Amino acid sequence: MIAVLKPGTSLRQRDNLIAWFKSQGLEVHISEGQMHTVLGIVGDTSGIDIDLLQSLDIVDSAKRVSETYKLANRKFHPSDSVISVGDVRIGGGNFQLIAGPCSVESEEQILQIAQSVRAGGAALLRGGAFKPRTSPYDFQGLKAHGIEFLLEAKKLTGMPIVTEIMSVEHLPLFEHVDVIQVGARNMQNFELLKALGRTDKVILLKRGMCSTLKELLMSAEYIMAGGNENVILCERGIRTYETSTRNTLDLSAVPMLHEMTHLPVVVDPSHATGRSRLVLPMAMAAAAAGADGLMIEVHNDPMHALCDGAQSLTPEQFCELAARVSAVREAVLR
Ligand code: PEP
Ligand code: MN
Repeated sequence: MIAVLKPGTSLRQRDNLIAWFKSQGLEVHISEGQMHTVLGIVGDTSGIDIDLLQSLDIVDSAKRVSETYKLANRKFHPSDSVISVGDVRIGGGNFQLIAGPCSVESEEQILQIAQSVRAGGAALLRGGAFKPRTSPYDFQGLKAHGIEFLLEAKKLTGMPIVTEIMSVEHLPLFEHVDVIQVGARNMQNFELLKALGRTDKVILLKRGMCSTLKELLMSAEYIMAGGNENVILCERGIRTYETSTRNTLDLSAVPMLHEMTHLPVVVDPSHATGRSRLVLPMAMAAAAAGADGLMIEVHNDPMHALCDGAQSLTPEQFCELAARVSAVREAVLR
């Protein structure tokens, strides 16, 4: 960390500040310029409140030279993490499709969709059992029954399952779930993140709709700091002033996150666009940008879906997407 002191700072003020850093176990290198004194603070500065430092009368500016996310940081882990879900590997050149309905609606529905997305090339089956809905009057999911039906679909197809958790209290119901999804609305539910950090489940962490990439990585850090390093990140669009799409897909997040972190990054073009006809082009774009996978909503009857029908692909459209995404990957990847 670097702190630049204002011109006119007295030696006594400077030494008081240095003594404060030293009392926190840090070393301080002093560099005297003509106008400014620059302090180089060395050691684990994660406990220093940079806003507090910047608010001091004698401090002109302060900057961290290393990020506060350590476990997720590529600097300390240069190679890509490869996350295993059963026999399926994601990251480090392993690209996977996660597909299924927004919500599990019945046993027949999830069994049917599971078989068709499996045939289309999906490696993992998604389906919401606990649904975060804007309106309390909308379908809230089949809850524990939804998870049971997903497990039936796993038995039938062999596909590992991905489903969203909304509350720490529900964790026992997720015992046999392969990948626990933390949705955009819960990205900063820190108690939930800490509880997931104490499990050994793979966690699919979706970016909050108004969150920066750094905030996403700090949330991943909560899970990893608890001992669970099996985290997959998901870009699902952010809220902007644009209203013609449900969200704005931030595709630059993919190469940017790959610079910042070693964790795999998947893209969800379904929630990002909210429109089924935009899912294929953005899926291809995400693959070209280097995503490690895609999460796609697929419904056998989008017109009658209980949730997110407008952005759901039919199984046939999903098959086409899988083929075209694969062609894009072959064309662009070296
Ligand atoms: C979902 O994937 O089912 C979902 C609710 O997505 P998000 O949290 O990104 O809105
Ligand atoms: Mn959905």
